[in-house]
Amino acid sequence: MAQRLMLGWLLCLAALATADPLVIAHRGASGYLPEHTLAAYAMAYAQGADYLEPDLVLSADGHPVALHDLELDAVSDVRVRFPGRARDDGKHYVVDFTLAELRQLRIHERIEPDTGDARYPVRFPPELGDFRVVTLEELIELTQGLNKVTGRDVGIYPELKFTAFHAAQGHDFPAIVLPVLERYGYVGSDARCIIQSFEPEPLIRLREEFGTKLPLVQLLGENDWGMNDVDYDAMYTPEGLAAIAEYADGIGPPVTRILTGRGDDGAPQISSLVRDAQALGLVVHPFTFRADVLPPGVDFDALLELFFGTIGVDGVFTDHPDQAVAVRDRMQAREAAR
Ligand code: CA
Repeated sequence: MAQRLMLGWLLCLAALATADPLVIAHRGASGYLPEHTLAAYAMAYAQGADYLEPDLVLSADGHPVALHDLELDAVSDVRVRFPGRARDDGKHYVVDFTLAELRQLRIHERIEPDTGDARYPVRFPPELGDFRVVTLEELIELTQGLNKVTGRDVGIYPELKFTAFHAAQGHDFPAIVLPVLERYGYVGSDARCIIQSFEPEPLIRLREEFGTKLPLVQLLGENDWGMNDVDYDAMYTPEGLAAIAEYADGIGPPVTRILTGRGDDGAPQISSLVRDAQALGLVVHPFTFRADVLPPGVDFDALLELFFGTIGVDGVFTDHPDQAVAVRDRMQAREAAR
């Protein structure tokens, strides 16, 4: 009897733990509108996302702006608007332009800069629209304004990109971003603001040097991505995860580190990463769930159900927040009807 009670209790706990995974709008509703634009963020908000995610890079005058790349070439008309401003490698770097200059750019859906071809042909046409660069402050004000009128409490999930690069350009990224967040009331461990980075150093500094209590998530990549000098392989080990748990509240690994393949019978092969991290008290928010970029034969809803249910992640980064919200709602309704 006691054993059965215990089993029931554990099942109940498991249900609680996985009942409410976060839907994190990756660069806004970027499956529908050009990433990092106010339109994409407003759409993600309206689609029911719990968090709006901006990648952040810095302008020449030190303003955090919502962009993914160090360069502007794939997502703006910089080559036309500012000829002669490229570095020797032919690329136009965000950090070489003031905010006033960045505001003059037309931001568009991602292209291959050298051919002009759309990176995702099924998405918003790159030649359409008059979108502008968004600052961190503008994203926060959109979010907080919408929170006021809707009564919701949607959060922001900023990523500090390439902090070592920015340091070499004379910008101390954590020291710039944290005061902005604090000015808008993002203070303390229960604030609706999670800071993420692929580099451990800025997160460790935010926690230890700046003493922030904001939730921090360590993003995990692959060593062969060539993003930085971080040894990700070491971070996936039990020792590496334990070291992350010293300064961060969660991890953001690629989906492929969790769902590692399929057996001959099609059954999913699932690594121990989520279990290992959650056992250390870390939340797990894998990236990136794209409904329009799936391996052959994979159904998006079924993939999300696998991650929300069987695997039990704490949230997902997705370009299609509406679809993730719909899957989550359906699962919760099913659970409630039991
Ligand atoms: Ca990101």
